[in-house]
This record gives sequence, C-alpha cells and structure tokens, in this order.
Amino acid sequence: MNFAIVDIQGYVINNEFTVKELAIYDGKDLKSYLFKPTVQYSDLYTSDRKTANYLYHNIHGIPYNAGVVDYSEINDILENDLSSVDIVFVKGQAKADFLASAFMGWVHIVNLEKDTTDQVPNLEPTTENCNNHKLKCCNCSIRNVYVLFGYVYNKLIGF
Ligand SMILES: [Zn+2]
Repeated sequence: MNFAIVDIQGYVINNEFTVKELAIYDGKDLKSYLFKPTVQYSDLYTSDRKTANYLYHNIHGIPYNAGVVDYSEINDILENDLSSVDIVFVKGQAKADFLASAFMGWVHIVNLEKDTTDQVPNLEPTTENCNNHKLKCCNCSIRNVYVLFGYVYNKLIGF
C-alpha cells in the first residue's frame, strides 16, 4: 500500500479555501509548490483582505501575492504526484475537503484530525520554516508533512 502525507497552507478567498503552499511527502520524495494567487491582493474585497492579512500575520507568514506556479496547474500536479498513491493522510477538515473536491476517485483521503488517539502531532507554528515564510511565526507545510509522516508510519506498521 502506498501512502503520502499532504499539507497545505492557504488563504480563504470568496469563502473558498485557496492553496498557497502545498507539500507532498511519501517517505522518499518531497514535492512542494508555491502557487500564484488567483486574485491579486489589490482586487480583493475588504473582508477578504482582512482575512488574508490575518492569515499572513498569524498562521503562515507567506505573502499573499507570492508564488511561482500557476494555480490552474494544481489538479494536474495532484493527479500526477499522487498517481501511485492509495491513501492520502492530511490533518484538518478544510484541507481534506479541498483534496476531496480537487480530485480524483482512486485516492482514499484520511483526515488525521479525526484520529482519537492523543499521539497525533500538533501542527504548532514554529520558527523552523522553509524560505516561503517571511515571518518567524509560522506554519510550514513542508515541516508539517515531515512531522506527520513519523506518526502515520508507526500507525500503519501497527496494522
Ligand atoms: Zn514552508
């Protein structure tokens, strides 16, 4: 059985979860992407700007307008990178819902937040982030997939 860990840091724009930083780790290869915004900051509604500012300052510290990958590529990226994966583990309902809506019948998505054991790692903000983050506060999807991998590996070995 092949599995991968996915973590996402994003923005909520027009009530829709929008991926900014995506990380995928299967225990061997790490893939990560930083997506361009779908709407430029200057074109956001005031309420969305407030949300964007809050998420930037308090959650992940990735500038709203940052990004190198065109957002239209995201479904192809997920389909390609997860083509040989049976199970995707993710922590958080918004992230699980996003993945469920973005693809892809063959992958089973497991939300680790629903695990009742208290051993599921917390994804606390730390200063150990990749270079996408411009503040020291932050949640980093690359760090998160490494943190979650150890937990999932031990959990599956226990089967
Ligand atoms: Zn990061």
